[in-house]
Amino acid sequence: MRRSFQKLSPYLWRYRRGLFLGMGALIVKDIAAAIQPLILGAGIDSLTRGFAISKVLWLSVLLVVLSAIKGLFQYWMRVILIGMSRDIEYDLRNSLFEHLVTLSSDFYSRYRTGDIMARATNDLSAVRMMLGPGLMYWTETMLTFILAAGVMAWVDWPLTLVALIPAPLVSLVVVLFGRMIHTRFEKIQGMFSDISSRVQENLAGVRVVRAYVQEDAELKNFDRLNEEYVKRNISLARASGMFMPLLQALIGIAFLIVLWAGGSRLLAHKLSLGNFVMFNVYMGMLVWPMIALGWVVNLMQRGNASLARIYEMIEERPTIAAPANPKPLVDVRGEIELRNVTMQYGGMTALDNVSLQIPAGSTIAIVGHTGSGKSTLVHLIPRMMDPTEGTVLVDGNDVRDYSPGDLRSQIGFVPQETFLFSASLADNIAFGVKTATKEQIEAAATLAGLSSDIAGFPKGFDTMVGERGITLSGGQKQRTAIARAVLRNPRILILDDALSSVDTLTEERILTGLQEMMHGRTTILISHRVSTVRHADRIFVLEHGAIVEQGNHSDLIGKGGYYAGLYQKQLLEEELEAI
Ligand code: ADP
Ligand code: MG
Repeated sequence: MRRSFQKLSPYLWRYRRGLFLGMGALIVKDIAAAIQPLILGAGIDSLTRGFAISKVLWLSVLLVVLSAIKGLFQYWMRVILIGMSRDIEYDLRNSLFEHLVTLSSDFYSRYRTGDIMARATNDLSAVRMMLGPGLMYWTETMLTFILAAGVMAWVDWPLTLVALIPAPLVSLVVVLFGRMIHTRFEKIQGMFSDISSRVQENLAGVRVVRAYVQEDAELKNFDRLNEEYVKRNISLARASGMFMPLLQALIGIAFLIVLWAGGSRLLAHKLSLGNFVMFNVYMGMLVWPMIALGWVVNLMQRGNASLARIYEMIEERPTIAAPANPKPLVDVRGEIELRNVTMQYGGMTALDNVSLQIPAGSTIAIVGHTGSGKSTLVHLIPRMMDPTEGTVLVDGNDVRDYSPGDLRSQIGFVPQETFLFSASLADNIAFGVKTATKEQIEAAATLAGLSSDIAGFPKGFDTMVGERGITLSGGQKQRTAIARAVLRNPRILILDDALSSVDTLTEERILTGLQEMMHGRTTILISHRVSTVRHADRIFVLEHGAIVEQGNHSDLIGKGGYYAGLYQKQLLEEELEAI
């Protein structure tokens, strides 16, 4: 527990003013509350010793004033301390997100998205609960207990000892049941995530479900989950249904003890009536701390566990970071070299000792079977990952000598799987270029062969792209991604199979346009279509992570290898289509 408060100490220190003010309000409120029964007792005793209306009036006024003070400071205590916990939650959430943005892709392949989301939401709010209500009620409970038990012991310590016998029992019941209810609740939460991901998947994949006529099977699956969910909820209801009566019984016993032991002392004239009433009021005041203690312990445990889960992520370091003194990089010429590059994914070799040179300003192409390592190769250039062995150079320098941000801002990268945000088309194209004008966006769209499609949309560039681009066709998505890359006016353009869903005619148009724009700049095209790559200055054929053929189109046709075979096959297909 101390360690987690150490981790949070910078945040607590930042809001120290609120912490001190809130705690101050808490102390004032608790003292005001603790004085009230004393006054009540004194009032009753003054009644039994002869009636003095002025004294009773004066005591009543004091009670009202104390209640007002208590109420006011209780309000401040809550507002200030809960506010502080919200502020800290806000700061933590910001630094968490800032940190997540810097992490490299290997982190995201290790953690599931749902898990990251859970940590950033549920765990964060558990930490807030620990810092706000947890800390507040813990201090309040302790102080109330010390004050009430202190005054009680001062008035009659033997009676106090007897009266407090059930207190540890109450706390024990709260802790035990709290834990039981907590684990059952956790399971229900887990179930609920299962159900929601199931629903989410079914909604997102509704087309697949229909196409494979899986509606009934999915319904059955869902029914099973739902039934389990109800069962668990009933088991939770059982636990919490037992909890309250048990607690009330224990508290009742505590009052019974005071009534009996206090009553007999009252009759023996060892205790005044005022003090007897006062004892009962203090007992009432102690009920809440006894209950709250178990709850607070639970809050603290949860907050602690959640903080550890959050810090596990915060302590992740980006594997791809800028060097201490990055080399300046303004206008890249676009010369790229791979020197004996080997890339392994957990022992599986994706690139095997690959060396290749791409002169500045040239257009090269990479072809090969799926899984031959094409995507892996191009991901190394903007340093989306680092090779296991060997060096990747841009303009003669190791890419690890540049700051990744500088390097990436010079590269237009269209990944194999396009990702669009649920924003307008224009915003999707202008992503990452804040200064983009309307004309620039339109020009990029034209270059990517998207203008006629956009002209057909009722809202044009303001058309909202559904989640992950669901409202667009595959080809439209790909071309939007190309427009996005082109708008950055990159010195190096990489298209990773980015024309696969575009028909050959459109492809031809796009390639011609790109050739004009990329004149004197470096372009890398990945495709399994000969039509895409035939005009490239140099074509590399990749197989099992190694370059097996290279040369221009006619060189490779002459060699009669993989490329020539691919060409023959596609030529035949075209002829068949023409028939
Ligand atoms: P291509 O783009 O030519 O289809 P890739 O570069 O995507 O090939 O993949 C090369 C090989 O590396 C494949 O066998 C693939 O399964 C593997 N691979 C690619 N990315 C990963 C990854 N993130 N983790 C593990 N293996 C991967
Ligand atoms: Mg690929």
